[in-house]
Amino acid sequence: MSIKFTPEQEAFKAAIADFAQREVGTKEQRLKYTNDGTEPTSMEIMRKLGEVGWLGVSIPEEYGGSGGGMVDQVILLEGIALGMIPAAGYGTTAIVQGAYERFGTEDQKRKILGGICEGNVEAIVMSEPGAGSDVGALTCKVERADGGWVLNGQKTWCSNAQVSANILVIARSESGDSKHSGITMISVPAGTEGMEVRPIPTLAGPHEVNDIFFTDCFVPEDALLGEEGGGWPQLMAGLNKERMILSGMYLGIAQRAFDDTLQYVKERHQFGKPIGSFQALKHRIADMATELECLRLLIYDVAQQIDEEPDRVFAREASMAKLKSTEVAKHIALEGMQMMGGYGYALEYDMEKHVRAGLVGTIFAGTNEIQREIIGATLGL
Ligand SMILES: Cc1cc2nc3c(=O)[nH]c(=O)nc-3n(C[C@H](O)[C@H](O)[C@H](O)COP(=O)(O)OP(=O)(O)OC[C@H]3O[C@@H](n4cnc5c(N)ncnc54)[C@H](O)[C@@H]3O)c2cc1C
Repeated sequence: MSIKFTPEQEAFKAAIADFAQREVGTKEQRLKYTNDGTEPTSMEIMRKLGEVGWLGVSIPEEYGGSGGGMVDQVILLEGIALGMIPAAGYGTTAIVQGAYERFGTEDQKRKILGGICEGNVEAIVMSEPGAGSDVGALTCKVERADGGWVLNGQKTWCSNAQVSANILVIARSESGDSKHSGITMISVPAGTEGMEVRPIPTLAGPHEVNDIFFTDCFVPEDALLGEEGGGWPQLMAGLNKERMILSGMYLGIAQRAFDDTLQYVKERHQFGKPIGSFQALKHRIADMATELECLRLLIYDVAQQIDEEPDRVFAREASMAKLKSTEVAKHIALEGMQMMGGYGYALEYDMEKHVRAGLVGTIFAGTNEIQREIIGATLGL
């Protein structure tokens, strides 16, 4: 089996690579855009990606996009990560995009999808201190109020909230018969009174992810996305997309870590030879290349299946893609660091960044233990 990209898709890949080379091809350029590597998302870059029309790659034309599908979106996600374009915010934006396409009113679609096409970042938060893998245990409250809704409680681990136009909050509107009923999606614009965004320092720096505190936070009626109390099935309907978005990003991270490793082991000499010529390294690199090839086939095959049947939930396949992409990226980045010796550990090179990205991929968007649970359940276990 081989991946058959259309001529337009091949041209799209080349254009993203060209953009990356031109804008952030050197470490100095990347540091300039990211406030010395502390900002994973540059809003200047997001606006530029909006101007060239790529952020709407899979948004319908009537809302400002170019009407492509999952394969096109994965090409963009892979290209961003491979080119180390500081647009991490596009990941959560793409997830929110899917929710609005499926459940937004006409006005909401025009506003949110139109904003995304122009470079807006969007965030989504389910997690709470007491509700991680068990999302259904969430307690952050949303209640009807005169002319709108009021939120109270805490959310945590909200990626990109610091640069987002809105945060899509998954909150509890009633205690229903089961923990999955009575969950509602509410959109809170940045800067709304009663919402505090507080950064959580992580290995990636001070501006990756945030705690969110709500105290009598009022939003108007039209902040509701979809059905009141229907948040859980709405979330489940987006699982394909969420996992494929992560998978596209991690395919790009894995490829970049591999490319950087290969270049290094060809250039670095010890004992009078390139270190890549030592069998101890050469065989491991051959294994990495093989894993990467398998991963690429899996990711684009699942993306193609989703494009053929957009309304079907590919629970097993999407979980396999998320599991495999993040495990391969972590493995290749750690191998790359080992093969670069001390230089892999130094901040001067990008490998330490690939390792940090690799470490967290197996944790967020549903840990890999949870992905294995899902795959196991589809096998009748
Ligand atoms: C950098 C980062 C960004 C994030 N961004 C977002 C975001 O934008 N929005 C959002 O809503 N959340 C986000 N998250 C939260 C993320 O999805 C959770 O961290 C993740 O789902 C795990 O929840 P937890 O951290 O509470 O771990 P826990 O659920 O407490 O899990 C701890 C360990 O137990 C294991 N475990 C738990 N239950 C089971 C089980 N049933 N079977 C087997 N093993 C199990 C887990 O796999 C894990 O190894 C982010 C997290 C990080 C670190």
